[in-house]
Amino acid sequence: MPALNRLLRAGAASRPPVSAARWWLSSLASSEADARVSERLARRGLPARRDPGSRNVQWVFLGCPGVGKGTYASRLSQLLGVPHIATGDLVREELASSGPLAQPLADIVNQGKLVSDEIIINLLSKRLETGVAKGESGFILDGFPRTIRQAEILEGVTDIDLVVNLKLREDVLLAKCLGRRICSQCGGNFNVASIDIKGENGRPGIFMAPLLPPAQCMTKLVTRSDDTEEVVKERLRIYYEMSQPVEEFYRSRGKLLEFDLPGGIPESWPKLLQLLNLEDHDDKQSAAA
Ligand code: AMP
Repeated sequence: MPALNRLLRAGAASRPPVSAARWWLSSLASSEADARVSERLARRGLPARRDPGSRNVQWVFLGCPGVGKGTYASRLSQLLGVPHIATGDLVREELASSGPLAQPLADIVNQGKLVSDEIIINLLSKRLETGVAKGESGFILDGFPRTIRQAEILEGVTDIDLVVNLKLREDVLLAKCLGRRICSQCGGNFNVASIDIKGENGRPGIFMAPLLPPAQCMTKLVTRSDDTEEVVKERLRIYYEMSQPVEEFYRSRGKLLEFDLPGGIPESWPKLLQLLNLEDHDDKQSAAA
């Protein structure tokens, strides 16, 4: 049975009824603040629990910094017609604004630390609310949840169908973060890292060609302020400490789909579609394009 169907079926079977979930949520809220943030999320646009067949996908992408969550989540969002919502992007939008949160957020992000659950949920709630007003349905979340508390709050307000856990070896993650470039004009994401690691001692090698920008972006490339070696190492440390437990949270619920990236986009994308049982979807879309 395709892995996705198996996971979706397991997820649907384990869903609690609405009233039980609400009761469970209120009993879970360890403080008034938890209850407040859960309520805000629920009010601002996450669909109530209902038959998963009647709504669009609600997926989460997990994985270390630099693994490619944004790349694959955004490709899948185009393929499936659901919004790709990256909490890191929401944080960067806030940083770029002149709002009161900009400076305190910059201090946290530039040290590689996590922003408080309260702030992140507030940003996410606002984004969901805007989306619902525009008629969006479903989502692919990238970079959220990143703590067990965030995962519990999300579980309290809506059903997640599937969690894709992207994996890459740590030396490649570091090289990919250091090679990441963004066009300051069009916002395009590129990568100048050229990764070619030979296999040894039974460990497979890995090749990832750089993803170079078109000529018009070349002179406008910028690097994220948190993509320095020191900060990336701290982000990885925080991932292992705070976010890796979220993998187990979803694994124990039968929702986690593990994907070891075999290489760059040309090798990984078709394999990911195959794992998700979406190859036909891609063919139809390519034919229609
Ligand atoms: P990202 O682009 O996902 O690497 O996120 C950039 C930064 O935004 C992270 O290093 C955190 O400081 C912050 N951030 C993004 N998502 C979250 C989250 N779910 N919880 C806490 N902090 C977050």
